[in-house]
Amino acid sequence: MKDDSAHVVSREWLASVVAAALPDGHGLVPLGRFNPDPRGSSGSVRAYFGARCDCTTAAVLSVEASATKSKLEVEAALPALIRTLLAQRDAFLRMPCSTHQRLRVPGSGFTGGATNQGKPTS
Ligand SMILES: [Zn+2]
Repeated sequence: MKDDSAHVVSREWLASVVAAALPDGHGLVPLGRFNPDPRGSSGSVRAYFGARCDCTTAAVLSVEASATKSKLEVEAALPALIRTLLAQRDAFLRMPCSTHQRLRVPGSGFTGGATNQGKPTS
């Protein structure tokens, strides 16, 4: 079991390498417990990060890697994953706060709640 996990891309591993590769001041928070698709039923592994605006609206962002890829392959693609994640963050932060308020899920503080996840704006 342990031997396999050395090669299989897991959500935790993806989250940790992405977090480690983020630039200083990225302002993103790893959402380790946000896991709507633990089995990777879509054939991919996703790691989730939260971005928060000054208006207190937060968004759930995610990066995705194919579950069939090796860690080496994912690491090679890491710069693109980071770019995608930062682009999602920038798109969220560029929205006017009036839009943020509209997107908010009441009570959750997130723009995507349990019933509306997995669809980051791209
Ligand atoms: Zn805002």
